Amino acid sequence: MPSLDVDALRRDTPGCEQRLHLNNAGASLMPRPVIDTVVEHLELEGRIGGYEAAEAASDRVAGVYASAARLVNCDPDEIALLENGTRAWDAVFYAIGFEPGDRIVTARAEYCSNYMAYLQVARATGARIVVIGDDEHGQIDLDELERTLRDPVKLVSISHVPTSGGQVLPAADVGRLARAAGALFLLDAIQSVGQMPVDVRAIGCDFLAATGRKYLRGPRGTGFLYVARERLPALEPAVVEIGSATWTAIDDYTLAPGAKRFETWEVSYALQLGLGRAIDYALDVGIAATWSRIGELAAGLRARLAEIPGVVVRDLGATKCGIVTFTVDDADHGALRDALTDRGVNVYVSDVSDTRLDLEPRGVERLIRASVHYFNTEAELDRFCALVA
Ligand SMILES: *Cc1c(COP(=O)(O)O)cnc(C)c1O
Repeated sequence: MPSLDVDALRRDTPGCEQRLHLNNAGASLMPRPVIDTVVEHLELEGRIGGYEAAEAASDRVAGVYASAARLVNCDPDEIALLENGTRAWDAVFYAIGFEPGDRIVTARAEYCSNYMAYLQVARATGARIVVIGDDEHGQIDLDELERTLRDPVKLVSISHVPTSGGQVLPAADVGRLARAAGALFLLDAIQSVGQMPVDVRAIGCDFLAATGRKYLRGPRGTGFLYVARERLPALEPAVVEIGSATWTAIDDYTLAPGAKRFETWEVSYALQLGLGRAIDYALDVGIAATWSRIGELAAGLRARLAEIPGVVVRDLGATKCGIVTFTVDDADHGALRDALTDRGVNVYVSDVSDTRLDLEPRGVERLIRASVHYFNTEAELDRFCALVA
C-alpha cells in the first residue's frame, strides 16, 4: 500500500498551522479544495443568483451522488443528500413503519439520538427495543444476536463506530445474521465512512447513514443516506414535499424515484458541492491508506496515554479505530479540555448521555475523546501526551 504524503496533506489543510486537532470525530479539518469549493459556489450565488447558480452547477451536483455511491459501493440513485448524519438516519428510520410488538434490535454502543428515536417510536407504536449485550471484547455479542434473531425482528440497527468507545463493531457479521433472519439492517456509519473501507454490499446493510464533517473532512451541515433500491417499496417517507415528491393530481402525489424521496427541496448547494469535493479528496488519498495510518497513530496514542500515571484508556473492542477515549483520575474533564484548548489543542469531552447504555454501567460520567486523522503526526501525539501528563 502506498504510504501517505503527510507533509503535503498537512500543507493542504490550513487548520494544521493553527491547531493540534484531535477532534476529527467531532468535525475534522477541511482541506483547502473543500473550503474553496464551498466559497466559490457562494460567490457564484452572490454574482448570478441562487437558482441560477444551482442550474449552472447541476452536473457537478449530480456528481456528488456518484461520488458518494462510489465511496460506499452502491448506485447513485440509492443515495440521498441530507443536512447531517442524523437527518439521513431519521429519514429512513421513520419511513419503516412499526407495529405493536415489532422488535428493534440494537447494541450497547448505540448513539444517543438513535436510541431516543427508538424510545419515541416504541412509545408511539408499541414496538419493542431489544439491546444485545456485549461479548468479552466489549462489543455486540454475535451469539446473543443470532439467538435473538430466531424470533422475528423488524429492524437491526447499530452504530458501526460508536461516538465514544474506540471500537469498530463487526458490521458485516451483523449484516450476515440480519439477512439470514430476514430483518432489515440500518447501519449508522457516521464515524466510519471516510475513516475505513465501508462497502454496503460487503456489509449487507439495507440502509446506511453518513455525515460530511467527521472523517470525510467535509463541511458542516452535510450528510448522506444509502437506501437499497429493493427496500424502497416498503418504505413511506415520514415527510412528503416538493423535494421528495411531485403533486401529480389534485388528490395524489408521486414519490421521487430512488432515494431522492427522502430529500428536502431547499438545500445548500455550496455545502453539497463541498461534500462531493471532500469525498473525491478522500478517494484520491485512498481509504485503505487512510485506515492504515489512522490505526497506527491511534495505537501509538493509546500506548503513550496508558503510561501516564492517573490516565485510564477506556477503549473497547477487538478492532479499534481512530477514536481514543480516556479518563484522568480525579480530574475535571471539562477543565482539562479547556486547558488543552488554551494551548491550541482540540479534543472533545464525551458525556454519559452520548452513549448511556455503554457508559452508565461502566460508571463513566465523562471522558476525553482524542480522535486522530491521517494528517496528525507522531510529534503532535508526543506533544499532546506531554501536555496531558
Ligand atoms: C456524530 C454522530 C452521529 C450524528 O451525526 P450528525 O452528523 O451530527 O447528525 C450519529 N451517530 C454517531 C455514532 C455519531 O458519532
